[in-house]
Amino acid sequence: MPASRFTKDDTKWMKKALRLAELGRGHVSPNPLVGCVIINAEGTKIGQGYHERYGKAHAEVNALTSVKDKSGLEGATVYVTLEPCAHVGKTPSCAVTLSKLPVKRVVVALEDPNPKVNGKGIEILQKAGIEVETGLLSDEATSQNESFLHYTKTGRPFVVMKMAQTLDGYIAAPDGSSQWITGKMARSLVHEWRARYDSVMVGRNTVLNDNPRLTVRHVEGRQPKRIIVDGPLSLPRTMNVFTDQYEDRTIVITHNETKYRQSADPMLNILDPDGFRGQTLLVNKFEGHSDLRQAFSELARLDVASVLVEPGSDLARALLRRGLVDKLELFIAPKLLGGGTRSFVGLGIDSLNEALQLKNITTTQVGDDLLVSAYF
Ligand SMILES: [Zn+2]
Repeated sequence: MPASRFTKDDTKWMKKALRLAELGRGHVSPNPLVGCVIINAEGTKIGQGYHERYGKAHAEVNALTSVKDKSGLEGATVYVTLEPCAHVGKTPSCAVTLSKLPVKRVVVALEDPNPKVNGKGIEILQKAGIEVETGLLSDEATSQNESFLHYTKTGRPFVVMKMAQTLDGYIAAPDGSSQWITGKMARSLVHEWRARYDSVMVGRNTVLNDNPRLTVRHVEGRQPKRIIVDGPLSLPRTMNVFTDQYEDRTIVITHNETKYRQSADPMLNILDPDGFRGQTLLVNKFEGHSDLRQAFSELARLDVASVLVEPGSDLARALLRRGLVDKLELFIAPKLLGGGTRSFVGLGIDSLNEALQLKNITTTQVGDDLLVSAYF
């Protein structure tokens, strides 16, 4: 359907709805970000809202609640960034709610791929005699909800890999030092990402070498879950991720069934009955390491819709070899090391035509560093 069906005002109001949706970022997952704007028959905005918190009211309901004079709904147009839901979940169906109102038209940016919705929301509205148009700013809406859409379609979280390397491709110096490759602005940006994704994942070597906290510090935001890949289940329980105030948000991935059974009460899924309040997930062994594909499926069941991986070269290799990375965020610092740990090694590629091909590339200057963002 051509976008020209839509007027300039349609575009203006849908942009507003997208900006509203964005305000829920970091708080609604695994639900989608949704924004909604209501315009009366005269073309004046009479209501707006967005999905603010997981399990709380949907955008349409918040927008309707904000309308002071309900008579303004007569002949109104509702702009919503995602197809109104058809199913009754934690809240009543928005499509049914809207269908009982005297609104004239509903404009939708994106149809909901969730099989419980998928066109059914639109059908409910149309049966009630409401005019429905879809596809306005659908690219923007798709990109805004890339984690949710991926999670819904694949049953696996959206996986973003962040790496920071020198111009000559090293992520650590020969002495192992790695923490300050990029500048302050790049590091702040990473903290913003930690707040917007559901979880942060690192491998056991990173925990051993850096004892990171993986918390959101340089910016305001909620603390993500921390996923630690510890195949042998042998990391010291004194590390920050197991002992600080967010330890209940730590999830350990292991394939060591013996140690898992010894150290955990599998019924309670507690890693260490003496103290640790996080969770541990037992997965199969794959090529000598924990099966990360299985781990992601298990994480999806725990409502983890997105993962920001901050890997060393081992974890990066394991993920890339299995095609488990959806997006790469690669910082390139204007430094040369001439030796140390390489960012990408051992991908099992022999020929140029086997190279992992990235697409939709954007480059941004972040302070003195260059950020390359791309999708697999
Ligand atoms: Zn809804």
